[in-house]
Amino acid sequence: LKKRNILNFEQFNLDSRLMAATKKAGYETATPIQEAAIPAAVRGRDIIGTAQTGTGKTAAFVLPILNKLLSSGQRGLTRALIVTPTRELAEQINDVIKELSAGTKVRSATIYGGVGANPQIQALRNGAEILVACPGRLLDLINQGHAKMGNIEILVLDEADRMFDMGFLPDVKRIVKAVPEKRQTMLFSAT
Ligand code: AMP
Repeated sequence: LKKRNILNFEQFNLDSRLMAATKKAGYETATPIQEAAIPAAVRGRDIIGTAQTGTGKTAAFVLPILNKLLSSGQRGLTRALIVTPTRELAEQINDVIKELSAGTKVRSATIYGGVGANPQIQALRNGAEILVACPGRLLDLINQGHAKMGNIEILVLDEADRMFDMGFLPDVKRIVKAVPEKRQTMLFSAT
C-alpha cells in the first residue's frame, strides 16, 4: 500500500506528451491495476489482468499502447487492436484514447455493428492506428479486406469473461488467428 501511494505516473517513463495528458486528465496516483500492468506492458510483456470497470483498467492498457506507437515504428498503420464486447464499452475506451492521446495525432477508430459500416471503412482507409472493436463487425471488415491485421503489434482482449458469456469465443478465436503470432497480448477480465 505504501509503495502504491508513492508510485506516481512519472515513474512509468512514459512519453512526455502522455505524462502531460495524464496530468490534464487529473490522474495523480496510479491505481493498483495501473501500477501492476503499466511497467510490464511498457516492457512488451503479455499480461492477464483481473480488474472491473472503474478501476482505471482502460488507461492501464491505453497508456502502454500509446507509448509504443509514439516511441517506435511507423505511424499511420493499424498497430493496436482492442476487442471489447459492447459498443458502449468501445466508445468509452475510445474516449479514454482521445483524452490521453491529445496532441499526439494518433488516430483511433471504433468498429461495431448496428450502425453503417461506411464511416468505419473510411476511418480504416484514413490510417487508424488503434482499433477499438466488437468481434462481429470486426470479422466482417477483416473478411471483406477492409480491416488489415498484418501490422498488429498489440492485441487487447477487454472484458474477456463477458465476451465469452456473450458467445463471442468463436469470433475471438478467429480474430486471434487473424493477427500476427508475434505480438503483445493483454487480457483483462473481471473474474
Ligand atoms: P476505467 O476503470 O478504465 O473504466 O476507469 C474509470 C475512471 O477512472 C475513468 O473515468 C478514468 O478517467 C479514471 N481514472 C483512470 N485512472 C485514473 C487515475 N490514475 N487517477 C484518477 N482517475 C483515473
